[in-house]
Amino acid sequence: MENFFPPPNPLSDDNSLLEMTTDININEELNQDTGLTGEAASPAPSGTTDESENAEPIASSTVFHSSFNVEEGYPDILLVSVDHVVFHVHQHRLLQSSQNNFAGTFPLILLPIPSITPLVTFPAHSDVLNITLHVIYNIPFRLLQPTLEAMLASIPVLKAFGIPLSEHVIPSKPLFQSILSFMPLRPMDVFISAAESNIEELAVSSSSYLLSFDLAAISDPMAERMGPIYLKRLFLLHSYRLNVLKTLCFEPPKQHTPTLTCCFEDQQALTRAWNLACSAFAWEGTPDLPVGIIRTTLYSLATGVACPECKASLDGRVKEVVRDWSMTKRTI
Ligand SMILES: [Zn+2]
Repeated sequence: MENFFPPPNPLSDDNSLLEMTTDININEELNQDTGLTGEAASPAPSGTTDESENAEPIASSTVFHSSFNVEEGYPDILLVSVDHVVFHVHQHRLLQSSQNNFAGTFPLILLPIPSITPLVTFPAHSDVLNITLHVIYNIPFRLLQPTLEAMLASIPVLKAFGIPLSEHVIPSKPLFQSILSFMPLRPMDVFISAAESNIEELAVSSSSYLLSFDLAAISDPMAERMGPIYLKRLFLLHSYRLNVLKTLCFEPPKQHTPTLTCCFEDQQALTRAWNLACSAFAWEGTPDLPVGIIRTTLYSLATGVACPECKASLDGRVKEVVRDWSMTKRTI
């Protein structure tokens, strides 16, 4: 293609001659996958010249502009989002990054006419397309500051256009790291998207923030999106931690040989106090029960205990419970 077309003029964005246009016809699939609504879900502009004139692009990407130069040279393709923002990109880079020829869009059969850059309508909002291209070109998100909605919407888009999620949505990549920053506030949204696209590391990371989530609040649509496997894993995580909590707490401090100052009945009083406190953990405790509450509650049982051996036994058992609860698995 580079043999057919000279590089576009880096000083101008006006080389987006619309004589040659192409639509990416996967709107239906994307709308289903992303849940995009409103403007972002509307059909892309038609590929005809007349209709393209009616849908004339009104803005150009500040990153993917006509002078956006990488090793492939100047851009040779224009991608236009549904909200009419133009992105100057390289067909070779898109093809190289995709496992399905960018949803079968490329390679384009280009006409040997100078100063014409093919225009391809892209069935997503500019926010999502911007993220998609940042991923493809491996550009840091430092200046992008995308919303969580746009990042999560970009995941099925990447998948639809053959960009392997296993290479681009991993902890070392900008998209994963940016999503990670939202996890404390929106863990369920992240978990659902990760589960939906089977992004294991993202699902595992977000699950650690879901220990306080009320599983009864998972609606049918939420369950349907995350699928039975990840739904089951989330329930099993909660169940496992609650069972560990009960097991830990219902083993009281060891009793010592009765002495003149601390008989069997004296030690039974401490055991009863322990069991009472632990009953509250068992019945009212949650998978995210803070270890600090366990420590404070159980250490408070030492109040009124005068026997040094009983105190030492209580201290040792509390330390064991705190240690084991801190080490209990927190992710699916
Ligand atoms: Zn004692």
